[in-house]
Amino acid sequence: MSAEAAYAGKVASSVRRALAVVPAPVKLRVVRIVGLAVAALGGLLWLLRDVPLLQVGLGALIVLLGGYAGWCRWPRWRWGIARASLSELAQPSDQLVRLTFDDGPTLGVTDHVLDALREHGVKASFFVLVQKAAAQPELVRRMLAEGHIVGLHGQDHRLPFFRRSAELQASLGTARKELEALCGQPIALYRPSHGFKNVALVRAVAALRLRLCFWDYGVWDTDAPPWDVLLARLRATLPVRTRRDASVRKPGPVVLLHDGLGDDPGIPAHAEPMLAALRAFLPLLRTKLEPAQDHQL
Ligand SMILES: [Zn+2]
Repeated sequence: MSAEAAYAGKVASSVRRALAVVPAPVKLRVVRIVGLAVAALGGLLWLLRDVPLLQVGLGALIVLLGGYAGWCRWPRWRWGIARASLSELAQPSDQLVRLTFDDGPTLGVTDHVLDALREHGVKASFFVLVQKAAAQPELVRRMLAEGHIVGLHGQDHRLPFFRRSAELQASLGTARKELEALCGQPIALYRPSHGFKNVALVRAVAALRLRLCFWDYGVWDTDAPPWDVLLARLRATLPVRTRRDASVRKPGPVVLLHDGLGDDPGIPAHAEPMLAALRAFLPLLRTKLEPAQDHQL
């Protein structure tokens, strides 16, 4: 197979998996928003049809603003961010996906997640909110003691929008210091709330020498779908890996789950289906190179 065909196949499989992961109401919402935006833009440009210069200028401005909004919102669009400000999560390469958990730690959720990970020998990354971590320091220490990665998700879950770079830098700097004191080790990784980024945030991150960690697949676990629906979304993230690929030891996609919900310190409604789906998903996560088990991948 030529390199181009292999690349096209990879892109097609990635799009198929993304479509399988995104729930129908979200797809419908996206179609509605894009449809409305295209209709509004078309109408506006039609109104300005006699003023071509204004039409072109306004069209270009809308496309630029739309592109910037898309870049801010879409965690997979990482262009324009310096390599030194981005991080690939260094999780064991024999795991088919790299699991990440945001918005915790939450007593009654994170401890069960850690139990399940330990049972199946899977490592994950936890992007914690510092105010929750300060309330549950023993859970953060357990993450580290059991070989997981701890990263910063912010002091709280506020979005970076309408905050100046200096303010973001001060807030993230303080949050990192507090988390480092709790962990007793340096914290280098940061995942912004909802994966939102903008120019001010990227500048603040670069000044603090933090490294941004996004994700490849979110599975909308916080919508609290039935556990088997969530499991089907999780299974869709599994790469089709051949024996040859496995020997290359390329890290799998980064998948986002939540062991909390925003700033709410309580046990969220999605915890039960998320834990049930996780327990069923974890046994599928290790690469199995034995020929007899290859068909399971
Ligand atoms: Zn979050």
